[in-house]
Amino acid sequence: MPGQSTYDVAIIGGGASGLAAAVSAARAGQRVAIVERDVEMGLPILATGNGRCNLSNIDLDPVRYRHPDIARTVMGEQPEAELAAFFDSLGLMTCEVDGRLYPYSKRADSVREALLMAALRPGTKALTCTEVERAAYDESKGIWNLEVSRPAKPLPLPKKPLEFKALIRAQRKELRRAERARETLFARRVIIACGGSSEHLAELFGLPHIPEEPVLCPVACLPAQGGCPEGLRDSVLRWLDGLRVDCRLSLVRNGASTWTEDGEVLFRAYGLSGIVAFDLSRRCIPGDTVEIDLFPNYSEHELAALFARRAESFGDPENMAAAWFTGLFDGDLSAHIANIAERTGGHTCASYARACKHLPFEVLGTTEHASAQVRRGGIPFDAIDIPSMSVEPDIAPALSACGEALDMDADCGGYNLAWAWISGIRAASASPAR
Ligand SMILES: Cc1cc2nc3c(=O)[nH]c(=O)nc-3n(C[C@H](O)[C@H](O)[C@H](O)COP(=O)(O)OP(=O)(O)OC[C@H]3O[C@@H](n4cnc5c(N)ncnc54)[C@H](O)[C@@H]3O)c2cc1C
Repeated sequence: MPGQSTYDVAIIGGGASGLAAAVSAARAGQRVAIVERDVEMGLPILATGNGRCNLSNIDLDPVRYRHPDIARTVMGEQPEAELAAFFDSLGLMTCEVDGRLYPYSKRADSVREALLMAALRPGTKALTCTEVERAAYDESKGIWNLEVSRPAKPLPLPKKPLEFKALIRAQRKELRRAERARETLFARRVIIACGGSSEHLAELFGLPHIPEEPVLCPVACLPAQGGCPEGLRDSVLRWLDGLRVDCRLSLVRNGASTWTEDGEVLFRAYGLSGIVAFDLSRRCIPGDTVEIDLFPNYSEHELAALFARRAESFGDPENMAAAWFTGLFDGDLSAHIANIAERTGGHTCASYARACKHLPFEVLGTTEHASAQVRRGGIPFDAIDIPSMSVEPDIAPALSACGEALDMDADCGGYNLAWAWISGIRAASASPAR
């Protein structure tokens, strides 16, 4: 029966957005239950930013988000200042690298620990290893009844001390074979903060759902047709595998450039990787062309003139072919550029400049999905009141959603975590005070 164990808010998912919501709700004096299916809270945070956690950006431009207007409305006029105050309140000192914000320690565990310290206060119940099996809203009492399952007994601890990652692996193994028991949680409000796999919970709560697909991952491609001899198309990327270049990527669709970004590309045997390719993965579709510009700081005309001056002292490209790029590029990349130039204008400075400015690849799709940083799709915004993050009451009462559970994704650079923190804070403020 509702009573002692009735929480003001039950948050399903103890990752980035769920912990931000928990901190805000707890600070507002609410009794909070966090329902986390993994063995510990906050584990997804540890993997972010290669273990350093790129937790936000100094310029949270809404255009970086899948739905800029929604991001603008939810995040408000000064999200950077709001997040700075939030991090300060957690005792989390930050530092900036090229516009990206990191914890001063450059350690993701600092972020997780600061959040846990603020979230897990008296009055907050942290239920790990716990999954919601059924959800029913009792209209007469205005309370959600959540039937949850969790291990019938505490998971056995390993016999010898283990370092953190090994301990987590061991505990997950124990969790998979643990016998489970059911109990009911009562909460006046529920926040769905389960990250990028929200289909099951959407179904449980009767919410619409857009199928999820991985983004922020490498892009599978081949040299564009006609861009190199047909017999070499399958081999070029194998030769370039592992090579990194600073460049500008442009996405070309139906002959028009629709997006460009500068950064480091990592050639892989299957396509393109690196942060700028991850950002490309949010925008490209099979059949698009990606052009690599190896000299983004020069126009094609300026580059041709530069190459002409180089030819005066170094030698004529006509006589040297790929060897002309010695001292500029790796040998395989040089051979590929010379091949393209040969097919499009011969071994001339102008043609070499054009090839360096427009190295074309045909997009086949996205790949390496296991390493994707975000999933697109989830609970659609037409089911959500903005900026409160509450589910529209005609769909479900006293229910909110935040973070990646919603159909929001953004570029690399701290934008996704910034969304998680702010949407979590907004979802918590929609919850009733005690
Ligand atoms: C490798 C990697 C690196 C990344 N690096 C960055 C970065 O540097 N900067 C950045 O901005 N973004 C980064 N991201 C993206 C960022 O981690 C996510 O956008 C963010 O964590 C989303 O927050 P969330 O709370 O919505 O989901 P999560 O942080 O994923 O948390 C969801 C939580 O819910 C739990 N859960 C799921 N289903 C259930 C259920 N049914 N019941 C109970 N609990 C459930 C999960 O176990 C998890 O703990 C990275 C992602 C990855 C994978």
